[in-house]
Amino acid sequence: MEGCIVCGIVSGSLSAYVIHEDKDIVCFLDVNPISAGHVLVCPKAHVSGFSDLPDALVSKIFCFGKRIASAIERAPTIDGVSILQNNGSFNELGHFHLHVFPRQRGDGFSWKRSDAPFGAYGGLAEVQRTLVQALREV
Ligand SMILES: [Zn+2]
Repeated sequence: MEGCIVCGIVSGSLSAYVIHEDKDIVCFLDVNPISAGHVLVCPKAHVSGFSDLPDALVSKIFCFGKRIASAIERAPTIDGVSILQNNGSFNELGHFHLHVFPRQRGDGFSWKRSDAPFGAYGGLAEVQRTLVQALREV
């Protein structure tokens, strides 16, 4: 897709520090890493959202993300690996990508919780009912 950074890397018009490429996926280092070894695992086809990915690609991307995590965990200074994926307006590339990055205790990366996590929902039970119903519809 024109103007897409990932599609530019796939086509070869943009350069990247590629660590793996096959017929379906490309994996490269994030140029603005959370930590050294931060990898983006992407489908070669332009797909924006997680729910738009064919199941076979979901499987391939997450299985390869697991393999990258295993490779990262070989480093003796690593305390763990985080895997993260953003959708909608939080997908800053507009092309699906799975973040896999090394963690060290005290690295400063954090998961900030909302001050009002339930918003208009009355609590966990209402969220549960809503999600169970929505799951029946997809
Ligand atoms: Zn793209």
